[in-house]
Amino acid sequence: MNLTVNEHPTKYSVLQYLYPVFSRRAEGLSLGINLNLNKSCNWRCIYCQVPDLIRGTPERINLDKLEIELRYMLNLIMNTDYLKLNLPEDFQVFKDIALAGDGEPTLSKDFFEVVDLIGRLKIEYNLFKSVKTILITNGSKIDNVQVQEGLKSLANQNGLVWFKIDGTNNKETNIINQINVSTVNIKHRLEVTSKLCPVVIQTCMFKIGIYEPSLEQIDNYINLLKEVKPNFDYVLLYTIARTPQLLEGKNLTPLSLEFLNKIAAKLNEFGIIVKCFG
Ligand code: SF4
Repeated sequence: MNLTVNEHPTKYSVLQYLYPVFSRRAEGLSLGINLNLNKSCNWRCIYCQVPDLIRGTPERINLDKLEIELRYMLNLIMNTDYLKLNLPEDFQVFKDIALAGDGEPTLSKDFFEVVDLIGRLKIEYNLFKSVKTILITNGSKIDNVQVQEGLKSLANQNGLVWFKIDGTNNKETNIINQINVSTVNIKHRLEVTSKLCPVVIQTCMFKIGIYEPSLEQIDNYINLLKEVKPNFDYVLLYTIARTPQLLEGKNLTPLSLEFLNKIAAKLNEFGIIVKCFG
């Protein structure tokens, strides 16, 4: 077994854009696509696991090369013992193609073309129903028309948006994501996204130094999710599994699964489904 949950290398042998990983959240093989080869993002989350992350925008995507890489990996997965050789026994399933990688994927000027390419290849390889296309996003570019077209294409190919909500107001997002996003903005972005494609909320919580998230922070989180409940299907609540790469994240440590489960139980009281990952 070669792929592990503890390493998500975005450089896999000769591939430039693709990186296959064993995903604990997907419970199987996730074929990652990295659209930010220069490690650029418009956020700077303190738990970020991208080494040498920069603020900025990604370079243009070589769509021909991306297609060659996708065909190479899809042939490997579908026509060889690849899953058997690389995944633990109970997880030898090709679960999703994930737009994630070393920065925010929707910053790419080629975002729509990439989503469109994935959709065409999924039809060709008969993966339309069995394999999801997942966009992992901070939601910041959702008002961009090209991004919205990409989300429509995503919805048409059994797609799902994992929408990041770590903080619920300017103060919290400033500390956690090192960007100011107001509660009004979060709600707006989530509402627009949910009208285009099914949404799952993804939230990372952790200890900063000795401090767990405060009661106020947890209440804010629960109240926001209660309010925006019509705009998402369920919540992925997780803690850090790997060492944060930014200097700002050096004093972060994981929360216990018990801590996450308590928050999940409170959300369950309001009919919100939560999957926790320790
Ligand atoms: S949005 Fe993602 S890539 Fe960007 S800083 Fe946050 S965790 Fe890192």
